Amino acid sequence: MERHLSDGRILLKNGTVITLDPELGDLPGGDVLISEGRIEQVAPEIDAPDAEVVPADGMLVIPGLIDTHLHMWQQPLRGLGAGQWGVDDYVAKVFPVRERYGPQDMYESTYMCATEALANGTTTVLDFCHNVLTEEHAEGSLRAHRETGQRVLFAYGMLGYEDRLEAERASRLAQVSRIKEDLGSDPTSLVRLGMGLTTLTFASMEDLLVEVEHARGLGLPMTIHQNVPGEIVRLQKAGVLGPDLLPVHSNNATDGELQLLASCGCAISFTTEGEFGGGRPMSALHRADRAGVLPTLGVDVPSRVAVDMFGQLRITYNIMRSAEAAIERQEGRWPLKRYEGSPFTTARRVLEYATVNGAKAIGLGDHLGTLTPGKQADIVLLRTGPFGVSVGDPAAHVVLQSNAGDVDSVLVAGRFRKRGGELVGVDTEKLPFMMRDLQRRVLNGS
Ligand SMILES: [Zn+2]
Repeated sequence: MERHLSDGRILLKNGTVITLDPELGDLPGGDVLISEGRIEQVAPEIDAPDAEVVPADGMLVIPGLIDTHLHMWQQPLRGLGAGQWGVDDYVAKVFPVRERYGPQDMYESTYMCATEALANGTTTVLDFCHNVLTEEHAEGSLRAHRETGQRVLFAYGMLGYEDRLEAERASRLAQVSRIKEDLGSDPTSLVRLGMGLTTLTFASMEDLLVEVEHARGLGLPMTIHQNVPGEIVRLQKAGVLGPDLLPVHSNNATDGELQLLASCGCAISFTTEGEFGGGRPMSALHRADRAGVLPTLGVDVPSRVAVDMFGQLRITYNIMRSAEAAIERQEGRWPLKRYEGSPFTTARRVLEYATVNGAKAIGLGDHLGTLTPGKQADIVLLRTGPFGVSVGDPAAHVVLQSNAGDVDSVLVAGRFRKRGGELVGVDTEKLPFMMRDLQRRVLNGS
């Protein structure tokens, strides 16, 4: 008889546990007891005879990684954006392809993106679905999310065909209401609904406010692409900023704008690799953190960035360090010397961006982001290879030494989605064929 692990108790035994909970700290050799999908206990030694024991010797046990900005429908376009140089390239190459997608393509893309993200240790994703060309497209993506077992905030995109949006806004908002009704309001449900607002570059503030009012009426978290200087002030004046709005990018934000975001309880989703590769200014990452805005991380575009949060962690740490060092040089404090508050960027801080901060940014700070008893058991077990955990801060091992290939096991709500290096409940042999056929349809239109 098949054993349903979510019904049982699981004891992760003798790992290096990085709880990211300020009270619990790290446990060099620790146990984590999981029951009913939640973390029941974290301690150096737990005795639970009725639990299934999972050895975690030589492994790091960390909270599941949270990606706060991912366009999952782009999964079959991997590589299409490689070498992209500027927004014009993106518009020329990726935009025309999106119109070839049908609802089944949205389903398959989302499903495959989720399996890759899960395999790479991402337990929660904010899926910014900005290819809702018809109601059936949204349903296709949601069907995938219901199957994968990944935790998702499905941000229903109000941007798609900009020329049609005016006529379709009311019917789209009606669909949003129906989906919300269907999904309910339990914050710990694996599939939750949010809204991907239209971009101010393409729409008026008046239009945006219609969406915001609708989302707030339903209690939906919102997210918005934010690129253009001055927009943050406009959003604040219009009453849009708040802890329920997650701006994405904000690379051009001034210190004053960052203070506005902080005073409104906003986080930012930085999609570091995509932004850096796109030539954007990168100083906003540490300026935001210093200003009290919560930085979080996202992959953004699978068409040119790997669905791999370990890559984001490492590049973010190094870019932030580089930006800090540049300021020291400019200020004449060279060669580098340590002093109070400098360096600001630590590996542990960056790991928090993809865990603690990510959870708060999508409204789940009480339920995710740390290995704290009572929270959801979204957990990743990381192998450390033949040489074990590196010396010093184990969080630095995660950020600077680990890669997605080290992900041994992944649990979401106490249920294994990857175990011993293998995805659970996924027909992995089928995936390459699914991808090949999907690419044939969306890339070649055949
Ligand atoms: Zn984006």
